Amino acid sequence: MAYKTLITGYPRIGENRELKKALEAYWAGDIAIDELKKTAALLRKTHWLFQKEAGIDFISVNDFSYYDTMLDTCVMLGAIPQRFRSIADADERYFAMARGNSASWAMSMTKWFNTNYHFIIPELDNSLVFKADSSKILSEYDEARALGIDGKINIIGPLTFLGLSKTVGADDPYDYFDAVISAYMQVVRAIAAHAEDALIQFDEPIFARDPSPRQLELLKKAYTALTSVSSKLRIIVTTYFEHSNEATFVLGGIPVWGIGLDFVQGARNIAGLSAVAGKTLIAGLVDGRNIWVNDAEKTLALLAEIAHFVSPEHIVISTSCSLLHTPYSLEKEGNSPLVQWLAFAKEKVHELVYLAKALSDPQLPEVIDWLRANKELIAARKSSSLITDAQVSERMASFGAGVSRVGTFAERNALQKKALALPELPTTTIGSFPQTAQLRALRRDVKAKRITEEQYEAEIKRSIDECIAFQEEIGLDVLVHGEPERNDMVEYFGEMLKGFHFTKNAWVQSYGSRCVKPPLIYGDISRPYPMTVKWLTYAQSKTAKVMKGMLTGPVTILNWSFVRDDIPRSTVARQIALSLFDEVNDLQTAGIRIVQVDEAAFKEGYPLRKEHIGAYENWAVDAFRLAVSGAKKETQIHTHMCYSDFSDSIHTIEKMDADVITIETARSGNRLLAVFQERGYANEIGPGVYDIHSPRIPDKEEFIEQIKSRLKVLARDKMWVNPDCGLKTRTWEEVRPALHNMVEAARTVRHCYTEN
Ligand code: GLN
Ligand code: ZN
Repeated sequence: MAYKTLITGYPRIGENRELKKALEAYWAGDIAIDELKKTAALLRKTHWLFQKEAGIDFISVNDFSYYDTMLDTCVMLGAIPQRFRSIADADERYFAMARGNSASWAMSMTKWFNTNYHFIIPELDNSLVFKADSSKILSEYDEARALGIDGKINIIGPLTFLGLSKTVGADDPYDYFDAVISAYMQVVRAIAAHAEDALIQFDEPIFARDPSPRQLELLKKAYTALTSVSSKLRIIVTTYFEHSNEATFVLGGIPVWGIGLDFVQGARNIAGLSAVAGKTLIAGLVDGRNIWVNDAEKTLALLAEIAHFVSPEHIVISTSCSLLHTPYSLEKEGNSPLVQWLAFAKEKVHELVYLAKALSDPQLPEVIDWLRANKELIAARKSSSLITDAQVSERMASFGAGVSRVGTFAERNALQKKALALPELPTTTIGSFPQTAQLRALRRDVKAKRITEEQYEAEIKRSIDECIAFQEEIGLDVLVHGEPERNDMVEYFGEMLKGFHFTKNAWVQSYGSRCVKPPLIYGDISRPYPMTVKWLTYAQSKTAKVMKGMLTGPVTILNWSFVRDDIPRSTVARQIALSLFDEVNDLQTAGIRIVQVDEAAFKEGYPLRKEHIGAYENWAVDAFRLAVSGAKKETQIHTHMCYSDFSDSIHTIEKMDADVITIETARSGNRLLAVFQERGYANEIGPGVYDIHSPRIPDKEEFIEQIKSRLKVLARDKMWVNPDCGLKTRTWEEVRPALHNMVEAARTVRHCYTEN
C-alpha cells in the first residue's frame, strides 16, 4: 500500500528572497507591476515543480501571496475597508491596504498565533458588502494545472478569518458569520464549477486555542454548508500549533473529506482520532516550525499508534503546519556537523517522501539505508560534544529554582530614589536611536574586514558621543547609549554567546517583504566574555547623568530563535538567563546604576491552550528573575514590553518584579493601563507617550495631553515618561523634535499641573 504525502503550505518569499527584492523594487518605482508579477509566477512555478519532482502528492496552490494570505482572504471575500474602496486599480488597492498610502493608514498587523509571522487583521463593519472574488485562486490553480499539477487549494477558513478579525465598535466578529459564509459559498461554487473534484484545504488554526461553544456551533454550520455545495469536491479542514480535539469531534459528524492535524505541537490530537474514522487523516508529522532533522524512528512509532484509530489507506502524511515558518534550504550553509542535523523546507519535503516510502515499502534498500543514516545522525547529535557543556549544567544546578534579588520593592525603591535623584516623571527612551545607513554600512564593513576593529570602534564611539550630546541638550533624565553597535536585539547577543549558530541564508518571512534570520540554539549556552560592558562604561564615562544599560531578556532571546528540541525550552531559557546574570553583574560592577532587560517577545510566547499557560508563566518569570537576581538593591532594573494586552497576565508582570516596566500605550491610551491600576500594581511604570511606528512628530501640547491622560490612572510618583519602543526605525529628523517636545511636556506637567 502506498502512502501519500501532502505539504500544508510552502514558503513564498524565494530562496534568495526574490519576492522581497521585487516587491521593494516595485514599491520604489524601479520596476513595473508586470515585472513583479513575472517574478511571482516564476517563484510559484519553481516551488511547485520542486515539490512535484520530489514526489509530493498533494501540492498547495494559493499558498502564494504578494503580502499576506489573510489580506488575500479579505480580497477574496470583498472585505475591503471603506477607506480603500475608491481605489479602482486592484493592485494599487491591495498594497494600499497592506502599507497605507498618502490618503489612508494601513490595515494593522499582528502575530499569527505564537509564531513570528504577522498577518493583516481584517476590519469588519456594517458598511461591508461581502462579494466573492475567486480570480486569484482559479488563476493559480490553472497555472499549476499547466505544469501537470492538480493543486490542493489553500484557503483560510471562515472561523479563523472571523476569529482573527476586528470590528468597529462592540460587535463580535462572529456576528458577521452569515454574510461571510455566503461569500465563502460563492468561492466554493466557483471552484466546483472550475474543477468539479477539486481538493480544498481550509486552515482553521483558531481551534488550536480553547474554543467557545459558539465557535464550535458555527464550525458545524460552516462546514455543513460548504460541504453541501458538491459531493464531488473534497474538503479538508486543517489545524496546527496545538491539538484541536473539540473541533475534530464536531467535524467527525460532517462530510468533510479530510481532517489535518498537527502531531508535533499537538500530541494530544491522538485523543480525537476516533472521530476521524471514515475520513482521510492528514497527519502532520514533520515539524514545520523548527529546523531539526526529523527522527524517523520516532515518527514511524507515532504512526503505528495513529494506525490504531485510522486505517493506513486513510492516512496522508504531511508537515505539521505550513513550511512558511522555516527557511528554504541548506544549500548555502556549508557542511559542518551542525548543518547535517538540520532540515529546512526543501529537506523536509524530502523527509516526508522518504517517510512515505519507509511506510509503503520498508524493505526497499534505499529505505533501509536512509533509515540507518537517519538513526546514526540522530544518535550522533545526541552524543555530540558540541551540545553539552558540563560546566553549564553544574552552574545551573548550583543556582536552584526560584532565585530572586535581594530586597522588597519598597526597600529597593527608597534606596534607588536616593541614589538616582531623579525628578518626578523622569524622562527616558527605550534604548535604540535611529539606525542610519552609515551605521549599517559600518557594521557591514567591519564584518567584511574593509575597516579595522579600531576604526569601527572609533566610529561607534562617535555615534555614542552624538547620541549623548543630543540627550543632554534636550534634558532627558536617564540616558541611553543608542545601541549603534547592534544589528538586531537578539542576534547581537546570540553572536557572542556559546551555543548559538548563525546561518548564512536561513531567512524566514516575518511580514510583507520583511524577513528575519533567527539564530539557532543548538547547544548549552554560556557567556565567554562581557557583551555590552565596553560600550556602556564608555557611554557612562561621557556623561554625569545616569546611563541605562540595555540587555535583551532570556525569554525574548528564546522566542526569537530556533530552539534545540532535545531539552525543555525552560532549561534553555535558564541557560540564557545565567549568561545575562553575569552581564548584569558586570555592568553593575562597572558603575551602571540602571539596567533594562527587554522582554519584547514575552507575551508572544504564550501557549495557545490555557492548560499550559501557568507552566509557561512560571518558567518565563523564573528566567527573568534569575537574570536580574544579582542586582543590588540600589541597582534599578527596568524591563520593556512591546504592544501587549496585560489584562490576563498582570499577575505575571507583577511577579517579574522589575523596578520599572515600560510599555506601548501611545495609540491605545489608558486601555492597557487600567489593569495596572485595578490590580494595585506597586512598581513604577513608563507608559509610552510617543508612537514610534509613525513618522508623525507630536507637538508639546499633544505630549502634555498624553502625559496628563496617563496620570488619570497612574500615580504621579510612580510614572515615567518615554516613547512606546526603540527609535531605530525612525530618522533623526523625526526623533530630534519629537523627543525635545516630549521632554518639554514632561517639564511643564511637572511644574504646572500638580493635580492628577
Ligand atoms: N531596546 C530595544 C530598542 O530600543 C527594544 C526594542 C523592542 O522592544 N523591540 O530597540
Ligand atoms: Zn518595544
